[in-house]
Amino acid sequence: MTKDHIAEVKSLEALIGGSFPANLSKLSSSSRTIPTNRDFHSLYKSDEFKRPIDEIARTSQCVLETIGGKKSMTFPGDDDAYESLVKVNDEILEKFDDSIDEFKRNRKMEEDSKKAIDVKVAESNKRFEKHGKAKAPFHLPTITKPQEEYKILVENANKPFDHVLLEKSEDGLRFVHPLEKLSVMDFVDKNLTEIIPVKPLPLEETPFKLVDEVKDLEDLAATLQSVEEFAVDLEHNQYRSFQGLTCLMQISTRTEDYIVDTFKLWDHIGPHLRELFKDPKKKKVMHGADHDIIWLQRDFGIYVCNLFDTGQASRVLKLERKSLEFLLKHYCGVAADKQYQNADWRIRPLPDVMTRYAREDTHYLLYIYDVMRIDLHTMAKEDEQSDSPLVEAYKGSYDVCMQLYEKELLTGDSYLHTYGVRSGNLNAVQLSIVAGLCEWRDRIARADDESTGYVLPNKTLFDIAKDMPITTAQLRRLLKSKHPYIERNFDAVISVIRRSMQNAAAFEPVVQSLKDWRPETVVEKNIEPKIEKTGTEASSSSLSLKKFSVDDSKKQSSSGFGNLPSKRKLESDKKVKEEVKVSKSKPNEVIIVVDDDDDDDDESYEQSSETADALNRVSETPSNGSLSMTQKPKICNKEIIVLDDDDESENDSESREEEEMRRRSEKHRRFMNMKRGFLNI
Ligand code: AMP
Ligand code: MN
Ligand code: ZN
Repeated sequence: MTKDHIAEVKSLEALIGGSFPANLSKLSSSSRTIPTNRDFHSLYKSDEFKRPIDEIARTSQCVLETIGGKKSMTFPGDDDAYESLVKVNDEILEKFDDSIDEFKRNRKMEEDSKKAIDVKVAESNKRFEKHGKAKAPFHLPTITKPQEEYKILVENANKPFDHVLLEKSEDGLRFVHPLEKLSVMDFVDKNLTEIIPVKPLPLEETPFKLVDEVKDLEDLAATLQSVEEFAVDLEHNQYRSFQGLTCLMQISTRTEDYIVDTFKLWDHIGPHLRELFKDPKKKKVMHGADHDIIWLQRDFGIYVCNLFDTGQASRVLKLERKSLEFLLKHYCGVAADKQYQNADWRIRPLPDVMTRYAREDTHYLLYIYDVMRIDLHTMAKEDEQSDSPLVEAYKGSYDVCMQLYEKELLTGDSYLHTYGVRSGNLNAVQLSIVAGLCEWRDRIARADDESTGYVLPNKTLFDIAKDMPITTAQLRRLLKSKHPYIERNFDAVISVIRRSMQNAAAFEPVVQSLKDWRPETVVEKNIEPKIEKTGTEASSSSLSLKKFSVDDSKKQSSSGFGNLPSKRKLESDKKVKEEVKVSKSKPNEVIIVVDDDDDDDDESYEQSSETADALNRVSETPSNGSLSMTQKPKICNKEIIVLDDDDESENDSESREEEEMRRRSEKHRRFMNMKRGFLNI
């Protein structure tokens, strides 16, 4: 039902419930008492008769206008007066009949649409119940894209993300996070002895509000204004948009749970919640917030100050596992059902089971925060010089907040980041096809706001590159499953392949360098590589940090996680294996492979092989062209850094090196507690 219909129904309802019936019956009974024909006309000459008759005419006109007969009507003073009045009376009754019919029709439409929503909810529920213990589907192709349905504007151009709300540094070269002006010590709790953790009520007994109207959001903001701390989590989709899309925002206070429908309130979330998230006096509690922090920046211009990350606290407390699932079991005795973690969160209306899951993600967090603070407070320091465990957890959380979102950018060597390129053993023609297809899918993905993995999955991309089909028939035969984008663009794909094949010679040197890299030295130690000592003539000042990070393990990387620095690689307390490899043919090139032995791939996620499978179809390492070693997927357990000596003049490379060092040291201010030597390449 349209807004106009609803307004009409409302006005008719008001009419029927208000003065309309009374007026109408008064009018129709008075019309019966009006004298006819000649009597009428002679009587109409007298004021005594004329006044009430004019009054009736006025009321008639009013009634007519109310029910939609807007034509102007003046009461005729001549012979037609009687007929005119009767005609008006008829018109009113006719119009009223029409309006009642329309009202009934509208009411039926309203009921039908309510029923349709109920059916949709029931269907959604059934769809998920049917899955039983199996994973909820990570992609529901029938969902209308929220970007279209809710007119969500995204800026996918191949240009760096502009943090429009942030100030720039004095030199104008970087954005300044509001946290930079604050000290982490401001956030550390002073009166921990006073904390008495109170377990939250069970979910069923806790008031819950789905926030999907601006008014609800205003109420939520007012509530958050009045509390000292709140818990937050986001659900996200990275398969059906280029940069990713926040689908839900869950918030819990000590007494209530909220789920904000971020699609419906997209443009309102920032203006209503930004200041609360930035307020250094208000504690935000989140679990493993690395992703959430940048999603908030990207989608709502929200920059978080004063975070307690229970994932960081788990690390400092050296808990056996760091997932929320573990914390819920460990601290609350709650067995959380994590099957929806990677579900298609774009679904609307939200099925009951998913609402429950989403609430569980924040419902217990403030309690866990209390207990963890006490545990951290009572935990002994590592040694005299180190920070107290509580301070360390807050420093970790501070660093998480300081990350800034960076958009994935396509550059000339982006294709080298594609999952599988290194292990693929491709020849120049094949590599050229990979490069061509990567560029093609990047362009389409940006324009249509899809992930590159949705436009052309890596596996298919490699199948095509290996097979080199040059006709649409050959290409068609090669495809094993449905590929809407390729099917719609057979000719374009074939012409990309043909053009790439012609251009293959340009890829010979790349194939050669991919082949040449063989390990000569393997160093196993506790971090701090000393590149200068590992047998290369290149001095550090003439090196430029050049290439890429590649994940060749059978493990996971995900496009949606592409822009995140992998902090764990830089953790000083971790045992990290490093291989420093020197190229045989190009001794000036050094590759460092950083690989840790930890099987737990992510600090806060425990990923099942099933999720990994699903994501493998869309996964790739980031290709944002960044020169930084930390520009790599979060879920990636290997990275390769190539240092190569380039041919430029000493001065040029020195200034580039300086510039790079400056950029990197600023960007990684958040790693200030970690060993400097590691970055000091
Ligand atoms: P969570 O904080 O666990 O609720 O996760 C937030 C979002 O991250 C989810 O909505 C998913 O889009 C994504 N996500 C969570 N867990 C995984 C995982 N294991 N692998 C890939 N994506 C995940
Ligand atoms: Mn989360
Ligand atoms: Zn969640």
